Amino acid sequence: MKGLYQAPPAKNEPVLSYAPESPERIKLKKTIGQLRMTEMDIPMIIDGKEVRTDNKIRIHPPHEIKHTLGYYHRGDASHVEMAIQAALDAKEKWAAMSWKHRASIFLRAASMIAGPYRARVNASTMLGQSKSAHQAEIDAACEMVDFLRFNVEYMTEIFTRQPESAPHIWNRIEQRPLEGFVFALTPFNFTSIAGNLPTAPAMMGNTVVWKVSNQQVYSAHVLMEVFREAGLPDGVINLVFVSGPVAGKVIFSHPDFAGIHFTGSTAVFQNIWKTIGENIHKYKSYPRIVGETGGKNFVLIHKTANPSQVATAITRGAFEYQGQKCSAASRIYVPDNLWPEIKELMLAQVNSITMGPPERFGNFFNAVIDEGSFDKLAGFIDRAKTDKDAEIISGGGYDKSVGYYIEPTVIVTTDPHYITMEEELFGPIVTIYIYEADKFEEVMELVDTTSIYALTGSIFAKDRYVIERASERLKNAAGNFYINDKPTGAVVSQQPFGGARGSGTNDKAGSELNLLRWVSPRTIKECFLPAEDYKYPFLEKPVCKKH
Ligand code: NAD
Repeated sequence: MKGLYQAPPAKNEPVLSYAPESPERIKLKKTIGQLRMTEMDIPMIIDGKEVRTDNKIRIHPPHEIKHTLGYYHRGDASHVEMAIQAALDAKEKWAAMSWKHRASIFLRAASMIAGPYRARVNASTMLGQSKSAHQAEIDAACEMVDFLRFNVEYMTEIFTRQPESAPHIWNRIEQRPLEGFVFALTPFNFTSIAGNLPTAPAMMGNTVVWKVSNQQVYSAHVLMEVFREAGLPDGVINLVFVSGPVAGKVIFSHPDFAGIHFTGSTAVFQNIWKTIGENIHKYKSYPRIVGETGGKNFVLIHKTANPSQVATAITRGAFEYQGQKCSAASRIYVPDNLWPEIKELMLAQVNSITMGPPERFGNFFNAVIDEGSFDKLAGFIDRAKTDKDAEIISGGGYDKSVGYYIEPTVIVTTDPHYITMEEELFGPIVTIYIYEADKFEEVMELVDTTSIYALTGSIFAKDRYVIERASERLKNAAGNFYINDKPTGAVVSQQPFGGARGSGTNDKAGSELNLLRWVSPRTIKECFLPAEDYKYPFLEKPVCKKH
């Protein structure tokens, strides 16, 4: 290195509007049309090579079951083994590459997504995961770009931070990638999270096996194309399409397993942790375990809150992307003095939500991800229809004849521990509990103790004493806490994201804290004037002074 280079300062990627006649809307619609006309053949990518199998799985939009988007090639344990070997073989060269060249690859990928690939990552996310143009834009384009650019900045800040040095000594910290390979295991709901989980460790010099969710293969394929086109060397990130348990069986018993970067459900993560614990004696080092998991996110409303702000927060917080955000508002605590007004405003909004395919831009709301999710959600709705302590005041309909459509559904319950107040449903169902306006302290106790999760939560109030008290009382109830705002929509670099308790290890994706998990520091001390006599001055005999 012949200069102390600085990476270009990161800025959040501006969100485009997709308003009628805007150039981005015209381009996106054209790209959607092209993708719909092509049946994509999607191979795994192992050691930079396209790997195909005899086991081809059809991909369809969740909102249009009959339409075929393409096929992906499903692998088995042998492909996981190949991916691990490729990652291990690529490791030495990749780890030795100077940080600025690694950074350049990911900054180039960010520029490609912000520019020429923007329409493709958005269109593939809209079709493959049933996201509206706006939801795809804030995820697949903007958040992915933000992850890549800010992570480069955080990486350089980590490298810059160095220890003090006493006179004639130079102390240094070298941030080494982990020994072995990293496993990135990613969820269906955010294209950007799927892209961040393998790239964050790779940026720090690690090589990765990346297993995507079966429901996100379509847009993952586009991201992988971008990474390779941006210059990512063969074997650095190896993309496999296998079942979770198949991948887990091979990976968690491999001696070179160095860490897992996971986002997904709490149950899966807890099982993974258990397996790693049982196999701990097999590994060459203690694996890093980073996991962001489920949530049961609250909106707590005080009697001094503004009802129209609350109504909008519930509608957007609970129903954007069909409630399939880990941060989605799903349990709401409303004081009885405000309930009539909030109810009227909220129902006017919810009942006006337009539902249908995302290709039609007038639709706010699309389908849920797959049949398993549809059936589970329909089951909770059916149960609420007959349970005495629950009442559905909006929605409650569902239909899977064309796509997996569940109406935005509002349940009011008289039991603060009703099942839909406690369990993560991961869909467009929100449950409201109405409390006596003067029992705010009691309701805070409920909010804090009702679920195993602590991901996001909001307080709505005008009274500043109340805001201060709730912020303090609920300090462990959410890793991302919002004051007078909906609990969704965290932005990289502005609200680092992650929860505690059952919601994850809180390593805040898209922050320096997260990147630190993918390195193992080595401290180096160099001495310019090494001692040449083992004796310290205190060992000397005192000199007798004669008077
Ligand atoms: P999921 O747990 O079903 O799947 C996540 C990944 O794990 C997928 O790739 C899946 O194939 C794999 N997997 C499933 N079972 C496995 C097993 N037994 N062994 C190994 N791998 C296995 O989650 P999902 O449905 O894709 O995503 C939704 C969940 O993710 C929700 O619980 C949501 O709250 C959570 N989520 C959390 C955050 C966060 O930042 N906290 C963000 C997004 C999603």
